[in-house]
Amino acid sequence: RAKSLGRNGFQFFDADLRDEIQTRARLGNELRAAIAGNALTLHFQPLYSMPGNRISACEALVRWHHPERGMIPPDQFVGLAEENGLIHDLGEWVLRAACLEAAGWPEQVRIAVNVSPIQLRNPRFLSIVEGALACSGLAPARLEVEITENIFVQNSATNRDILHRLGQIGCSIVLDDFGTGYSSLGYLRSFRFQKIKIDRSFVQELPERGAAGIIRAIISLAQSMDIPITAEGVETHDQWTHLNALGCNQVQGFLLGRPQPSEMIRQSILSHA
Ligand code: C2E
Ligand code: MG
Ligand code: MG
Ligand code: MG
Repeated sequence: RAKSLGRNGFQFFDADLRDEIQTRARLGNELRAAIAGNALTLHFQPLYSMPGNRISACEALVRWHHPERGMIPPDQFVGLAEENGLIHDLGEWVLRAACLEAAGWPEQVRIAVNVSPIQLRNPRFLSIVEGALACSGLAPARLEVEITENIFVQNSATNRDILHRLGQIGCSIVLDDFGTGYSSLGYLRSFRFQKIKIDRSFVQELPERGAAGIIRAIISLAQSMDIPITAEGVETHDQWTHLNALGCNQVQGFLLGRPQPSEMIRQSILSHA
């Protein structure tokens, strides 16, 4: 009996897995068409300097405008794109669109673009960045490349070399979602980031003491290395006040501004830059 149950269980799992694989394959094909057919769009979320409350940068966040399913958030397709290799085309589209948009903003406002560690493995990556800058006319110093700790899962010399060369082009390199990934502090010594973003999971627990302690520790670590700190996911005044008191340099979150389409972000920038 146990055996037949096991077999049924296995068959059930098998059918499930087959469905899952088919769904992902279909989604992959749709995504490929979406990238080629300009069905992707960028939203932009403001980053405010502390305590001045000016917009000093905006983060580009990709969305997929799906004909049947509506607006699909990146969490539902960036992982897939990383698995099937579409991330290279997707990432190139994002870089080009983001730089073009930012080229129309006041000079002091920078653009932050998320880059997957997998994109760095593309031998063309640096020329893709240079191409996006050249086509848009955006000054390299206005481009911030956000990368997560996962880049250091393999703490390879090649990765560090690419980040280094990206820095030589003139872009800033930002460590995103700090504290959630492969958290070994050693890599902070092996590569110098221009900015560290504290993950939203810590910020959202504020003012709970545990989270406050961790944020205080991250900020003092960053200060001792002379690296500015951004907090993401700020949703309440109370969180803002705590972060300000702790010496955080920049904030991003629904309290200050949601990700918004380009026409709207231009309005926000005009009134806050
Ligand atoms: P991320 O880079 O950490 O971006 C911040 C995410 O937090 C965004 O989600 C943003 O909408 C959300 N967020 C900002 N403030 C708040 C807040 O106050 N409360 C809450 N609950 N959420 C807030 P989004 O746009 O869904 O993006 C999710 C992730 O997808 C991003 O996390 C990033 O890792 C990835 N992603 C987005 N766009 C791109 C892209 O163009 N390329 C790549 N490789 N990854 C991207
Ligand atoms: Mg980011
Ligand atoms: Mg982040
Ligand atoms: Mg995050």
